[in-house]
Amino acid sequence: MFRTHTCNELTKSEIGTEVNLCGWVNTRRDHGGLIFIDLRDRYGLTQVVFDPSNNNNSFKIADKLRSEFVIKISGTVRERPEGMRNSKLNTGEIEVLVNDIDVLNKSKTPPFEICKTKKEHPEDLRLRYRYLDLRRDKMKNNIVLRHKMIKMIRDFMDNEGFLEVETPILIKGTPEGSREYLVPARLHPGTFYVLPQSPQQLKQLLMVAGMDKYFQIARCFRDEDQRGDRQPEFTQLDMEMSFVDTEDIIDINERLMIRLIEELLPDKKILKKPVPRITWHEAMEKYGSDKPDTRFGLELSNISEIVKNSEFKVFSDTIKKDGVVKALRVEDGGSFTRSEIDKYEELAQIYGAKGMANIIIGEKEHKSPILKFLSDKEVEGIIKETEAKPGDIIFIVADDFVTACESLGNVRLALGEKFELIDENLMALLWVTDFPLFEWGKEENAITASHHPFCMPHDEDIKLLDKEPLKVRAKAYDFVLNGSEVGGGSIRIHDRDLQKKIFEILKISEDDAKDRFGHMLKAFEYGAPPHGGIAWGLDRVVMQFAGEPNIREVIPFPKDQKARDLMLDAPSVMPEETVKEMHIMTTAKMDDVSPFMNLKEFLNKNHTHFEHLEHEPVITSEQAAKVRGTTLEQAAKAIIFETDTGKVMTVVSAANKINESKVKDLLKSSKLTLLTEEKLFELTKCKKGAVHPFGNLFKIKVLTDKKLKNNDEIVFNAGSNIDSMKIKYSDYLELVKPEIVDIT
Ligand code: ASP
Repeated sequence: MFRTHTCNELTKSEIGTEVNLCGWVNTRRDHGGLIFIDLRDRYGLTQVVFDPSNNNNSFKIADKLRSEFVIKISGTVRERPEGMRNSKLNTGEIEVLVNDIDVLNKSKTPPFEICKTKKEHPEDLRLRYRYLDLRRDKMKNNIVLRHKMIKMIRDFMDNEGFLEVETPILIKGTPEGSREYLVPARLHPGTFYVLPQSPQQLKQLLMVAGMDKYFQIARCFRDEDQRGDRQPEFTQLDMEMSFVDTEDIIDINERLMIRLIEELLPDKKILKKPVPRITWHEAMEKYGSDKPDTRFGLELSNISEIVKNSEFKVFSDTIKKDGVVKALRVEDGGSFTRSEIDKYEELAQIYGAKGMANIIIGEKEHKSPILKFLSDKEVEGIIKETEAKPGDIIFIVADDFVTACESLGNVRLALGEKFELIDENLMALLWVTDFPLFEWGKEENAITASHHPFCMPHDEDIKLLDKEPLKVRAKAYDFVLNGSEVGGGSIRIHDRDLQKKIFEILKISEDDAKDRFGHMLKAFEYGAPPHGGIAWGLDRVVMQFAGEPNIREVIPFPKDQKARDLMLDAPSVMPEETVKEMHIMTTAKMDDVSPFMNLKEFLNKNHTHFEHLEHEPVITSEQAAKVRGTTLEQAAKAIIFETDTGKVMTVVSAANKINESKVKDLLKSSKLTLLTEEKLFELTKCKKGAVHPFGNLFKIKVLTDKKLKNNDEIVFNAGSNIDSMKIKYSDYLELVKPEIVDIT
């Protein structure tokens, strides 16, 4: 039997028992002739002891154990001596005296420490070795939390009568406002499947199919720019119900979320139950956000009424053009330095504000660059509306409603952080309702659906559809947790004519609608029940529950910020034949690919053998030699210079110093200047210190110092500071054909 117990099971009650344990060597300590090992598995740690007087053979083997070796031991459970107990461990009262040991597998030294969780390792390294990263406690706990949450959700939904139905991954596009991932259809040349942005249309079709209550833990795909809470593929708790209105959807989701918090986070406090509701308009007015963090106040004011006739044209003109003037009073903000005030103004500008005015409130006199344009009555009115007191600062933005609110809303969030106003022990849930059905798409310069085109308008707003579509509210709701939009949904249109009308407003022609959504319109002709639903961004919920600042921490195998899987090295260049078979052609140039992939592809194409060495980030040749375990002599250092006749790459052994005057003489160049970091990046897409010696790939001349040939194999940073390659010197010569020179 491999094991009788896990590494988290043994307590005083097993003292004297013979046990088998398996796991990884977490730490190893030598103490006065004894070897102590903390043995780790998914469940925990157990201290095991090797004593030569008990079994000398095992002791000798233990002497050779290193971190992350996989072992099996058999031994006897005994009480730890007084003073050696560890109350933090479940197994802290006991240890196992080892009789026999089996080394099940050895391990290379991991690229980062696994046993210590305090220090965060560079993320790209963690992502590359995700299977090692997941061995760390923090990551494992996140995965366990994720599992528990999904299990509880499934049980809850089942209990409520929902059916879990799988929907396909290869579908026809479903519009949710993002770019879609395409999959070429080999059997149908020139056509594509689309990966679902969500199962939206399918779940609505399941309602037409009479499934009544559907849910799915569904994978969704959106090809958009990555952020801290976004991933190109992510998981939703997706649901849809028939014969329901907003109240029914809110009720079931609220009960589920509260159950999850109470069971998984018993120490946290839910800010308010039942969950408060706020309309989209009110959320924007008060918090400057459609997903407000209500764990703290700092609410915005609307001072439009007070300044609508102001001499100060920035205010009055904005209001005339249907805009608003919004203010944010910051208690004690009068002490902000000039540069702090500038920083907040810059933040407001990032979110679209043209500028942000301020007034510092004094006992008698106030300070503000705009004071001279405002009447005393206006200033008093602003102070009264914002409830400002001496020592406070008031920030003011005049703009269209959304821009004014959102820019100040983001200043509000930054201030909440600065003044540490957020109680981390709170879970603040909120429903945001009554979203506008449409919005003005600035990029498209046209009306667009705020959510998706299947949302039902409010009954009393249907009459506005023709004349004032932007005023129409949707029967849509978002679920917000601690300022994160964790869910969103709506009651759907189930009437074919109304759906057609919405398509018309969105300028989707009849032909286009038929082409894209013909299946929906057709299905709606066969008795579609009234229905509605919602989807949770499940990763975001886990992220909030785990208190993690970024979504990648709660996804076992996430993509990085550039949407790459660093562990699998995806996306990757595919063999030409495979691409052809798909009836597609790529217009991408090799320059668009990362320098590492580019080089790899080049070596593969030439059937050149190379060894890929991955390591922690390095800058200098000395660091590189150390982490790679190679010599300084064999390191090929590539430097690019600007000369009279253009750019030149020199390659020398890192053990030798380049002699610049020799290079100058050789090239008959009066100048020899290092490329600036920007220029270097422009040419090579490599950072300083990471340039590989294949100058031919950058289409520049290469001079290689003759001393490099003293090595059978050379190593170099392969276009990134965490990847190196080792190749035969002779292969290098053949592929690059450099001029061999004496430049050291
Ligand atoms: N499909 C929508 C989304 O992914 C959610 C819904 O309306 O149910 O945002």
